[in-house]
Amino acid sequence: MSDTFDVIVIGAGPAGYVAAIRAAQLGLKTAVVDAFVGKDGKQALGGTCLNIGCIPSKALLDSSKQFHNLTHNFALHGITADNPKIDIPTFTGRKDKIVKQFTGGVALLFKANKITSFFGKGKLLKGNQVEVTGNDGTKQTIAATNVILASGSVPIELPFAKFDGKHIVDNAGALDFSEVPKRLGVIGAGVIGLELGSVWKRLGSEVTIIEALPEFLAAADTDIAKTAAREFAKQGLDIKLNAKLSKAEIKGDEVHLTYNSEKDGEQSLVVDKLLVAVGRRAYTDGLLADDTGVKVDERGRIVVDEHCHTGVDGVWAIGDAVRGPMLAHKGSEEGVAVAELIAGKPGHVNLDMVPWVIYTEPEISWVGKTEKQLKDEGVPYKTGSFPFAANGRAVAMNEGVGMVKVIAHAETDRILGVHMVGPVVSELIHEAVVAMEFKGSSEDLARIVHAHPALSEVVHEAALAVDKRAIHKSN
Ligand SMILES: Cc1cc2nc3c(=O)[nH]c(=O)nc-3n(C[C@H](O)[C@H](O)[C@H](O)COP(=O)(O)OP(=O)(O)OC[C@H]3O[C@@H](n4cnc5c(N)ncnc54)[C@H](O)[C@@H]3O)c2cc1C
Repeated sequence: MSDTFDVIVIGAGPAGYVAAIRAAQLGLKTAVVDAFVGKDGKQALGGTCLNIGCIPSKALLDSSKQFHNLTHNFALHGITADNPKIDIPTFTGRKDKIVKQFTGGVALLFKANKITSFFGKGKLLKGNQVEVTGNDGTKQTIAATNVILASGSVPIELPFAKFDGKHIVDNAGALDFSEVPKRLGVIGAGVIGLELGSVWKRLGSEVTIIEALPEFLAAADTDIAKTAAREFAKQGLDIKLNAKLSKAEIKGDEVHLTYNSEKDGEQSLVVDKLLVAVGRRAYTDGLLADDTGVKVDERGRIVVDEHCHTGVDGVWAIGDAVRGPMLAHKGSEEGVAVAELIAGKPGHVNLDMVPWVIYTEPEISWVGKTEKQLKDEGVPYKTGSFPFAANGRAVAMNEGVGMVKVIAHAETDRILGVHMVGPVVSELIHEAVVAMEFKGSSEDLARIVHAHPALSEVVHEAALAVDKRAIHKSN
């Protein structure tokens, strides 16, 4: 045995690296084991989120939005450019630089917090020991009073559309096409499919999204999903619902798809690239020795209680590897909570108050319950909504599309859910999160002074609309 720590974290994604930093801040001797290999063949901290998820996708979304504005929207402002072009190596290269900046930033934070970093695959052994296998096969065993499992998730592969990294790709592949695919097929109209489909659509791909579910964005509030579907259709994103892929054959440089559509029967489609984005599964391959006592459920997720404890003394699990939404910020907050619990402080994450964001155009965000959930639960509610089309700032930005909807309890007026589709709602949602965390009412939001002209006035007016007193629309 070479080293003993207070805390060992396996996995340096947003759940694990945040847990490690907080543990170190609290004076605990902390180590992190992570196996992620960056494009340069060296260790790259930050997990899926920083390397091949949240950050690179947002970089490409932003660049593609600039190009789309130049080719479609700037003329409205009187700005024109002759023959605008996009250079794909520069486009993806900018993203790579941003990734490197942030993964390098985590390494610097580890150093500043005196966290010991091991590069290799970690396996939990009985008695809170961790076997670390380096890329060269060398093994060492370290031990700690507490081990936090933060091994994250990986894309689900379809048996009849296996990733080949060139024609049929996962999220990582779709971040790095060397040219704009003329025809891009996407399987799955979830967050990743919609975001990466939008990126390449804006650069000129013909994008067809095939979704097995009959309803578009079933997790979102119906009004929001309907508005978003209308806008995506206007943008030319072809979303086929109730359609199940059955075959994907690579023929030369094309992928030939067969899918069954509830409406049209068996259909075929030929694309140049296929992104399979049908969801992610908790990743625990090789993570647990047989005798650790840590359990996994039927979906392969590590079983934990509400405090992220596995039931095995000193073993915790957080992030995508456990129940709850697969979102970076959810994992990070669990990391903080667990570090604080280990240090003897109170730590807690309210899973009911985790905001969701989809970074399409328009953006989509929500927190709390949808109308459908409340109906199913028999909770009496009232709603108020307000369109961005009636907001001066949104119209001045040429982004007067979408709405904010506030749902409050019919009797107590406590806010139960806030749903948004429109410009920059990834930021606006946090006003709702704060109000709801403080158990606020729609009246509370309605009485807060909002700056004018600001997009957040739409949140204000939606809250006023709950009581039928929005000022800038007829109630
Ligand atoms: C394209 C895309 C876009 C996304 N966009 C967003 C977004 O905008 N907002 C958002 O909130 N979420 C987003 N997500 C989801 C987000 O990336 C995940 O929820 C988040 O990364 C989960 O964090 P984690 O720390 O649990 O796991 P991960 O980030 O998956 O990190 C786990 C780490 O553990 C390592 N590891 C696993 N097993 C071992 C082992 N045995 N030994 C050593 N190391 C191991 C892995 O190599 C990895 O580095 C996106 C995901 C994708 C794919």
